[in-house]
Amino acid sequence: MLRIRGGAVHDPANGVDGAVRDLCIADGRIVDQLPASAPVLDARGMVVMPGGVDIHSHVASSSCNHARRLLPEQRAADEVAAPMLTGGHRGRSGTGGTVPTTFTTGYRYAGLGYTTVFDAAIAPLTARHTHHEMDDTPCVDAGFFVLMGNDEYLLRQVDAGERDRARDYVAWLLGATGGYAVKIVNPGGVEAWKTPQRNLNGIDEPLGSSRVTARGIVEMLADAANTLGLPHPIHLHCNNLGLPGNVATTLETMRALDGRRSHFTHLQFHSYGTGGGWKSGAREVIEWVNAHPELSVDVGQVMFGPATTVTADGPVEYLLYKSSGRKWVNIDIELETGCGIVPLEYKEKASVSALQWAVGLELFLLSADPWRVLLSTDHPNGGSFMAYPHLIQLLMDRTVRDEALKRVNPALLAGSALLDGLSREYTLNEIAIITRAGPARVLGLASKGHLGAGADADVTIHAQQDDKAAMFATPRYVIKGGEVVVEEGQLRRAPRGQRLHVQPGFDQALMPDLTAFFDKYSTVPLSRYPVSAPATPPTPVRQP
Ligand SMILES: [Zn+2]
Repeated sequence: MLRIRGGAVHDPANGVDGAVRDLCIADGRIVDQLPASAPVLDARGMVVMPGGVDIHSHVASSSCNHARRLLPEQRAADEVAAPMLTGGHRGRSGTGGTVPTTFTTGYRYAGLGYTTVFDAAIAPLTARHTHHEMDDTPCVDAGFFVLMGNDEYLLRQVDAGERDRARDYVAWLLGATGGYAVKIVNPGGVEAWKTPQRNLNGIDEPLGSSRVTARGIVEMLADAANTLGLPHPIHLHCNNLGLPGNVATTLETMRALDGRRSHFTHLQFHSYGTGGGWKSGAREVIEWVNAHPELSVDVGQVMFGPATTVTADGPVEYLLYKSSGRKWVNIDIELETGCGIVPLEYKEKASVSALQWAVGLELFLLSADPWRVLLSTDHPNGGSFMAYPHLIQLLMDRTVRDEALKRVNPALLAGSALLDGLSREYTLNEIAIITRAGPARVLGLASKGHLGAGADADVTIHAQQDDKAAMFATPRYVIKGGEVVVEEGQLRRAPRGQRLHVQPGFDQALMPDLTAFFDKYSTVPLSRYPVSAPATPPTPVRQP
């Protein structure tokens, strides 16, 4: 039991905007009241929020492992001290850099007040590896999205117009992998990368000689996710990521999904204007998002400094390798997807980096509904999650933002709304929405992102500071599932988190066809394919 006394509570999901009140915790949950004898944590003068929920990150996967191996120089430059936990025990040290190892990832998220994180791109075949890494990532509840947009069996259903079988396959695959949601990366394009076709350049370009198009893939998967009543809709990385003029593809995809619940991820990387050359297309795309309540997005903000691109989008990684000359990995994951890695550095003085930085900020500052335009850096693609406090500062403090704008290369910023002097400053409640309440709602996590009775007791307590970057970088207390993990700014405990996953039902009539497919094409027999069910119960699906 614990009573958090007298903090200014920011709990936007329950309409609480800075009211000074007590928060009561018992048995890992928020409760309405406690006996007067309950222990007290004095939060007077401090800000109390739900624990952070990261809707899109790359932290626990075989691709992260490849990235860790690729970048020894980053690790050497970022020494990780093992934190002192309760009772004088040393934590595990791990390694750092933009792709830290499991323990470091958990400690660092907790150190920023984040208590839930989703890995956004897991190939089904590597799901077992991800569960092991997540088991090893303390302090956060974790789940992952399963890559399906270039999956051979799924593509066959799109080609044949087999919508019901596609839906049953989605349900089976989520259950077999212990995953949480459907991820689509460059629909059809990763499969094309494995052939002389190399990529799909528009949403109606067919894949080879088939009837498969990006439009067909996203429509079928969006309908499958929504018909199954999954807590989170399709999580979509559109075609043509990172290319000038790609706002046309992004808007066409949004029109294709018009009226269907869907989530567009790292929108910044998909919002470059048309008409030749590099320019911002943020205004067009955010206007569409603002007008369509069935859509949610996360921004994928670029932050200056080192980053590592880790994505299933093979064609993009090849382009990045060709243009940067940096180290490069591209991997084929049979029948399912691909994976690529290229380290990068975003520089203030580089014109394209500066444009990307500005486009992300434009999306945030022109967003009409913070519940649907969520904070991410697509860690570690646009920058490390360690940059979140600085990003929060850019959103909350116009003076800091304007100073930063003066330092960047302005060559490609003509027409950017940022140059018009966007004066908006996010409030503490809006920050609580884009980092906590909003992602929890979009993910369908009923007991996260808020502080009402019955919610998970995941709580962050910050001392008020004018310097918002410092304030959000060093919470005074972080409570995970009722346990105080950060105390007086120091990590003290590192409990194991829960796994977030779904187990939707499906028609067993799928199995003979799927078994025949596995027998014919897969190196892994169907009987050996599913992971053991996670120990935590599944998040319920809405009954269709
Ligand atoms: Zn990503």
